[in-house]
Amino acid sequence: MATYDFIDHKFDVVVVGAGGSGLRAALGCAQAGLKTACISKVFPTRSHTVAAQGGISASLGNMSEDDWRWHMYDTVKGSDWLGDQDAIEYLCRNAPAAVYELEHWGVPFSRTPEGKIYQRAFGGMTRNYGEAPIQRTCAAADRTGHAMLHTMYGQSLAHETEFFIEYFALDLIMDEGTCRGVTAWKLDDGTLHRFQAQLVILATGGYGRAYFSCTSAHTCTGDGNAMALRAGLPLQDMEFVQFHPTGIYGAGCLITEGARGEGGYLTNSEGERFMERYAPSVKDLAPRDMVSRAMTIEIREGRGVGPKKDHIFLHLDHLDPKILAERLPGISESAKVFAGVDVTKEPIPVLPTVHYNMGGIPTNFYSEVVTKNGKNPDQVVPGLMAVGEAACVSVHGANRLGSNSLIDLVVFGRSAALRAADTVKAGEKQPELKPSMTESHLARFDRLRNANGSTTTAALRLEMQRAMQEDAAVFRTGESLKSGVKRLAAVHAQRGDLKVSDRGLIWNTDLMETLELDNLIGQAAVTVNGAANRTESRGAHAREDFPDRDDATWMKHTLAWFDDTSGKVKIDYRPVHSFTMTNDIAYIPPKARVY
Ligand SMILES: Cc1cc2nc3c(=O)[nH]c(=O)nc-3n(C[C@H](O)[C@H](O)[C@H](O)COP(=O)(O)OP(=O)(O)OC[C@H]3O[C@@H](n4cnc5c(N)ncnc54)[C@H](O)[C@@H]3O)c2cc1C
Repeated sequence: MATYDFIDHKFDVVVVGAGGSGLRAALGCAQAGLKTACISKVFPTRSHTVAAQGGISASLGNMSEDDWRWHMYDTVKGSDWLGDQDAIEYLCRNAPAAVYELEHWGVPFSRTPEGKIYQRAFGGMTRNYGEAPIQRTCAAADRTGHAMLHTMYGQSLAHETEFFIEYFALDLIMDEGTCRGVTAWKLDDGTLHRFQAQLVILATGGYGRAYFSCTSAHTCTGDGNAMALRAGLPLQDMEFVQFHPTGIYGAGCLITEGARGEGGYLTNSEGERFMERYAPSVKDLAPRDMVSRAMTIEIREGRGVGPKKDHIFLHLDHLDPKILAERLPGISESAKVFAGVDVTKEPIPVLPTVHYNMGGIPTNFYSEVVTKNGKNPDQVVPGLMAVGEAACVSVHGANRLGSNSLIDLVVFGRSAALRAADTVKAGEKQPELKPSMTESHLARFDRLRNANGSTTTAALRLEMQRAMQEDAAVFRTGESLKSGVKRLAAVHAQRGDLKVSDRGLIWNTDLMETLELDNLIGQAAVTVNGAANRTESRGAHAREDFPDRDDATWMKHTLAWFDDTSGKVKIDYRPVHSFTMTNDIAYIPPKARVY
């Protein structure tokens, strides 16, 4: 093994990730007077948050009366009763203040004629506990994430966050169960770094790239989730993968749910608006899991559109072109570029596409990472927090409602910073780091750097992505999942045969992609194993062999540990928090979720 030297840094707080959640957390920690670093493998404004289109939910009540309790009810129901209700209460109560904070920082929201923040309808968002769709999603045209991320990056420069850009975080520095920092590889000069901190906040986003077709960026490889697994920590509810109903057929790019929020609708080969049959009250604005299943059934039963009858049409052609130009300019352009469609005249060909990971690193609503220790299911891991799509707090449970992620980023980014301000003392002395704490980091890095087998990273990645796409899809069966478990074990075994051609350390994208693939394999394995283990249907996890939700056995969170050497997955459970912060409004699940 080559010898590697570390360049050392010492901070109070290190945030890994500069998407919406990482920037909000870093900004808050710096504001609290803590010496804060923010590490990102891409330039902050290239984080996937920049691609968010439709908007951010909050019960501002700008378009009609609204109430955070209605938002909370919708989120609990949307989660198919797997969400933690204390965390959901925290989210919905704090959402309006978080949106006003963004407004005051300068996010250029679209406006109503009176000058208030414009809000549009989104799936599963209703008035008065499910009565009818409500306009609750605050939007900056269809570029809301872009507006948020650029504004927050600007704001974080105004505070003293120190940015380490194009640094690739490798692993958590653990010291008998306490997190003491993180190691990273600087991509442009090849140096290795040790960031010591009293607190590490993982804000590394989702792992959509475990699948062949997804709406997320190529950088969405869940590196923080994988770092947690290698540190011996479990991931939670990984079997719940959200398919967005309207990815562009063939290309996979997203057409926002805001398109249906503005009046768009889906049709099958008979020209029928089929969602009326599946969700009579909210129709095309049903939650994503239900719409994706309905589309899949229509295609299966021979009512798909196109020469192969393998997709569905999304119509915007009945809407006023002026409204389309004002509120949906981005997706009008995407439809033109990626489907050759003029949305004012023709429907867009669409197909359910992997979009979001409900699962991630388990946390409480202070954003502290928790694990199960003996009988205690909520044991806090000292020195470690997680926020954003990497975390499973869990406000989205088995199915996230559209526009509830952007609000999750800022509400829990802020909660992490508030907790850090309470628990971390600026400049406190930190224990000496020992070489034994980072030996495994270097061994893994060196092994992959010198990998000299016969399988290319691209080939093995494709094998993993195809297995996930085919075996852990919108609908799953015991058989497909058994096959998925086997195929992922084979992919894991083949890791030893990987070939990396570039042995250098400077801008070695071959090695970076291999580290990312290695990160994805563990997450894909816990996803299919968790799915095979959960013998019920709930939210985005639809088992054809177990079509009903089974609260008696399965109203609990899956925890999954991954043994990186053997590839074995160990499963245990945490109870769902069906109590709220104030203990006065817990929602009890009815038998079926009807819209
Ligand atoms: C196309 C699209 C549209 C969407 N639209 C909406 C919407 O309208 N409303 C909504 O609520 N949600 C939407 N979502 C979901 C939402 O945008 C994401 O869940 C959210 O932006 C994730 O933010 P994040 O802060 O967790 O991570 P990201 O924005 O993904 O950022 C991850 C950060 O971690 C860093 N990082 C990762 N690994 C490493 C590493 N190894 N070393 C160093 N840094 C690392 C990256 O550089 C990056 O800065 C959309 C998602 C997509 C894909």
